[in-house]
Amino acid sequence: MSENLKEIVEEINKNDNILVVGHILPDGDDVSSLVSMTLGLEKLGKNVTAVIDDEIPEYLLQFPLVKSKIKKFEDVEEIIYKKYDIMVILDCSSPDRIGRFEKYLNAFHVLLIDHHITNKYFGNLNWVDTTMASTAQMVYRILTSLNVEYDKELSTMNLLGIATDTGFFKYQNAGVLVFKDVTELIEKGANISDISNTILDNIPLEQIYLYKDVISNLKLALNGQIAYSLLSLNMLSKYNVLPKDSPSFVENLRSIRGVEIAIVFQEYAKGSYHVSLRSKKWADVSKIALNFGGGGHPRAAGFSVETNDIRQTMEEIVDTISKTIANHNPDSAFK
Ligand code: 5GP
Ligand code: MN
Repeated sequence: MSENLKEIVEEINKNDNILVVGHILPDGDDVSSLVSMTLGLEKLGKNVTAVIDDEIPEYLLQFPLVKSKIKKFEDVEEIIYKKYDIMVILDCSSPDRIGRFEKYLNAFHVLLIDHHITNKYFGNLNWVDTTMASTAQMVYRILTSLNVEYDKELSTMNLLGIATDTGFFKYQNAGVLVFKDVTELIEKGANISDISNTILDNIPLEQIYLYKDVISNLKLALNGQIAYSLLSLNMLSKYNVLPKDSPSFVENLRSIRGVEIAIVFQEYAKGSYHVSLRSKKWADVSKIALNFGGGGHPRAAGFSVETNDIRQTMEEIVDTISKTIANHNPDSAFK
């Protein structure tokens, strides 16, 4: 057991009242980690509340335990000092990712558990393991070290994060450890078809129409190595899709032959955009995102921008990225 994991386990063992905090723009790994941690620690008789200071997307609320176990900032705001001894932060690389919980960081002993290469080590005790494909696998190690009994429900919720953060076991991060952990969770009763039916084969029709419009906005740069598009609030309102429920479609753009980097500029409030980046084989988008004030992984990262002229901003950003990667492509004619 790594030294940090051991210390995290000891700290959780010692404390009974635990606030588990996830990140804004929550994803499958984050909600899986939060729900698994909550279910697991509750089995040990602890008083645990999982919280995220943001709306949870509808596709993740399809899991009843995500809906019932993850609370809002407002649910704990008034009792936060009275009720909790420690704060456990999951899947967050920087303090701004926890929303309004950031202002409580100094008031608690903070355990930070994450797998992002861009992690800022802002906890009192940090276990950051970038070799892990998902935070859900780190939660799995914590809970098994605490001798938590895994049932079907917990196994399935824990598998959810491994599935989503590895693109259903097909990204470069899907290594031996992923398949070992998946095997163990399946042995404990996890149901992968439940997860894939709930997420993959359950797309609301309006999102398919939205995808059509994202494709209409598609542009290519650097000889087809960069694909980018825009997803504006106007496009969402055309189909009555809420920003929090909209997929970014960035992975669809990456799937185009010849594309190395896919970028989707997604408007979440008037003039405010979340920029999702994905790469296929060699470009390190975590470095690109970091340069723009964001973060993430080598193959999946993001950042935010504010602009009144998104089309101009898109061109500027794509231009900067083109220049950055033109010099790094191992097979590039631009070297
Ligand atoms: P997505 O494009 O799906 O929103 O994010 C892809 C990855 O990049 C995720 O692992 C996410 O945690 C990270 N990420 C996205 N946006 C940001 C950001 O603004 N700041 C940081 N630190 N990480 C981000
Ligand atoms: Mn993750």
